[in-house]
Amino acid sequence: MPVPARNTLAIVGAGPIGLEAALAALDAGLDVHVFERGEAGAHPLAWGHVRMFTPWRMNIGPASRVHLDRAGWTAPAPDLHPTGRELVERYLEPVARLEELKPRLHLHAQVVHIGRQGLLKGESVGSKARREHPFRLLVRDPGGRENFLHAFSLIDASGVYGQPNWAGDGGIPARSELYLAPQMSYHPDDVLGLGRERYAGKRVMVVGSGTSAATTVLALADLARAAPGTQVVWAARRPLAQVLPPIPDDPLSERHRLYARARALAGGGESTVTPIGDARVEGFEFNAATHRYRVTLMIGEQPRVEEVERVIVNTGFGPDDSLYRELQVHECYASRGPMRLSAALLDSGATDCLDRPAFGADVLANPEPDFYILGHKSYGRRPDFLLETGYRQVADVVARLTEEQQASTARS
Ligand SMILES: Cc1cc2nc3c(=O)[nH]c(=O)nc-3n(C[C@H](O)[C@H](O)[C@H](O)COP(=O)(O)OP(=O)(O)OC[C@H]3O[C@@H](n4cnc5c(N)ncnc54)[C@H](O)[C@@H]3O)c2cc1C
Repeated sequence: MPVPARNTLAIVGAGPIGLEAALAALDAGLDVHVFERGEAGAHPLAWGHVRMFTPWRMNIGPASRVHLDRAGWTAPAPDLHPTGRELVERYLEPVARLEELKPRLHLHAQVVHIGRQGLLKGESVGSKARREHPFRLLVRDPGGRENFLHAFSLIDASGVYGQPNWAGDGGIPARSELYLAPQMSYHPDDVLGLGRERYAGKRVMVVGSGTSAATTVLALADLARAAPGTQVVWAARRPLAQVLPPIPDDPLSERHRLYARARALAGGGESTVTPIGDARVEGFEFNAATHRYRVTLMIGEQPRVEEVERVIVNTGFGPDDSLYRELQVHECYASRGPMRLSAALLDSGATDCLDRPAFGADVLANPEPDFYILGHKSYGRRPDFLLETGYRQVADVVARLTEEQQASTARS
C-alpha cells in the first residue's frame, strides 16, 4: 500500500462543520477527503421542517462563504431564519456542488472504524510517535463493499443526531423500551407535514423538556387545532415551572418566541395539551390489539399511567464513540465530549450558547495526535452547540494542522 502524503486529511461527515473544514483545509493546501454516509447535510435535512433560531448570518461558515461567492452564489437575507431544509438547499448543497470540492466529497461512504496503521490503542501511549502511523479508516459503501483509506490527520465531524437518548429514568431504557423503540419516534417528527397522518386525531405522548421536545409539543398543539381529537401528553423530567426559562434580553427572537409559547403550554394554557412535570418514565407496554401504549410515569413515589397511541421521545442526543474506540481519546465522564473542551465549557460558567468563548486548538486536541472531534459531536451530550462555535473550531484546528504538517515536512 502506498504511504499517504503528510498533508492528507480525512474528514468524517459532510454536515455544515465537515464541509466548512474541507474548504478551509483546501485553502490551507491540505489534501482533504470527506466521507459522508448519506447526502451532504443529511442531519439538518432530517429535521428539515424545524426553523432554526439562529439567522442566516450566524449559520454560514467563513471559508464556505468565500468559495460560494466566487462561484456566483446568491446569499440569503442575513436576518432571516432558515429551516433545516432551507439550510441544506440554499447553502450546504451549493457547497457540495463546488467544483473544487466535488472530487473530494465521497457520499454514501460510511466510516465504520478508525485506527492507526500498524499500531494498537495501548501502544506508544500519549506519544507523538503515534504520528508516524497514518490513520486507517474502514469505509463501507451502500452495497456493503469495504475499503481502507489512510490519512495523516483526521477530523470527526459526524454529529450526534444519529444517536438519540433513551426515555427511561437515569438515561437508561425504560421497561420494554428496547423492544418498542423501533415503533416509537426518537426525533422531532414533522407532525404538521410528512408525519401528519400518523399523528392527526391521536393521543400522543412527548417525552423531554428541552428545545426539541418543546418544538414537537408546539407543532402537535397546532395540529390539534386543525385535526380534532389530537391530544398531547407532555412528560417532562423537570418541574413544569422550570421548563425553558426565559433568557433575559434574548437576542435570538425565534428562540424567545419558542420558549415563551412552550412555557405557556407547560403552564396548562391549552386544553389539548396535558403537561406533566417531575415525570420519570418507568415503563412502556404495547397492546397489539388496540394499538395503544400504557406508559408508566413516576411522579415522586407515585406511579401514574397514561394511555396513548403514539410516543415521541425527544430527550436529546449523544456521540457515537465506537468510531474512534481504537484511538487515544480522553472522554468527559459527564458529557462524553472530548475532556479538555468539556472541562473548559464547564469552567467558563457561561449559561447561554451565545456566550461561549473560542477555546483554541489546544483545548480541542486529544491525546491522539492530529485527531480532532469538531462540530456538534465535540459537545458530546450537551445540547447547546451552535454552528458559529463550530466554524471557529474549524479555523483554529485547520491552522494547527497546517503548522504541524509544515513542521513535519521541514523535519523530513
Ligand atoms: C433540531 C435541531 C435544531 C438545531 N437548530 C440550531 C440552530 O438554530 N442554530 C445552530 O447554530 N445550531 C442548531 N442546531 C445544532 C447544530 O448546529 C446542528 O446539529 C448541526 O447540524 C451540527 O453540524 P455538524 O456538522 O456538527 O453535524 P451534523 O450536521 O450532524 O453532520 C454530521 C454528518 O456526519 C454524517 N455521519 C455520521 N456518522 C458517519 C459515519 N460513520 N461515516 C460517515 N458519515 C457519517 C451524518 O450523515 C451527517 O451528515 C440544531 C440541531 C438540531 C438537532
